[in-house]
Amino acid sequence: MTDLLKNPIFNDETAAREWLEARVWPEGPVCPHCGATEDDVTKLEGKAHRPGVYQCSECREQFTVTVKTVFERSKIPLTKWLAALFLMTASKKGVSAHQVHRMLGVSYKSTWFMMHRLREAMRVGGLSPLGGVVEADETYFGDVPEAKRPTKSTKGRKFTKGGRSGPSGKRAVIALVQRGGKVRSFHVAVADGETVAQIVNENIAHEAHLMTDESRLYTKVGENFALHGTVTHSHGEYVRTDDVLKDGKYVPTKIHTNTVENYFSVFKRGMRGTYQHCAEKHLHRYLAEFDFRYNNRSALGVEDNARAETLAAGIVGKRLTYRRPH
Ligand SMILES: [Zn+2]
Repeated sequence: MTDLLKNPIFNDETAAREWLEARVWPEGPVCPHCGATEDDVTKLEGKAHRPGVYQCSECREQFTVTVKTVFERSKIPLTKWLAALFLMTASKKGVSAHQVHRMLGVSYKSTWFMMHRLREAMRVGGLSPLGGVVEADETYFGDVPEAKRPTKSTKGRKFTKGGRSGPSGKRAVIALVQRGGKVRSFHVAVADGETVAQIVNENIAHEAHLMTDESRLYTKVGENFALHGTVTHSHGEYVRTDDVLKDGKYVPTKIHTNTVENYFSVFKRGMRGTYQHCAEKHLHRYLAEFDFRYNNRSALGVEDNARAETLAAGIVGKRLTYRRPH
């Protein structure tokens, strides 16, 4: 970290902008309005222009690297944005807005706002289904205010461990983790059979082996997969080895949900330790942050610098659905 802080991108606005340009436009500038590249895009040099402005000859618009990104229209210098970005990607358990605010000398409100925009940049969509062995589970975290709790009239039955009704006063999170691979987590209004089935069907390849506990939430959807292995936690069963038919041979396969449970424990520890107060409407962004760190972890060969570069490339084209806090 000490060497990192000497990097000019945290002190020099031009260095910061050029670093960002190289990540957002690895093959040269792209007009964010019409997609024009190369000869159609000219850098405007000289004192008459703000630094970093490009002119598109295709649509005649001008732009900088932050147009149509989560940094758009921010008055915060890019050096501060990049410092926040590196702090967030280098902290294993997350970093609080109070700490970043003190380290960067940016107001708490602005820091909070920057960090939520960076979480937005961590969100990924349009991914192909997870394959191999995928563990699915649901958990509950944080309170839902009385007025917002699902009522009896809510469509579908809520099930939880052992098939009991889910705690309606808690926020439900569903996570899918590919063993040795990546995670996808979802904040849902109600973890009922219909919701769970939709998430599982859309995000896991049907050739995959699905692993869950005995919850009835997964019984029906489990039939869509090459294998649905379940462990009966309520009977004290956590890991079992079954011989599973694979490519014409029986292969010993471990049936458990320990990977997804570990993910949940990292998430809960991080939320309790670093982000004590989280409004429900922001929970999906915190989940995106924990997913991002898990999916770009050292064990998958992703180190701090590469993680920061991945996030920088992710600032483009994210829709912002919230406003600055008052
Ligand atoms: Zn253009």
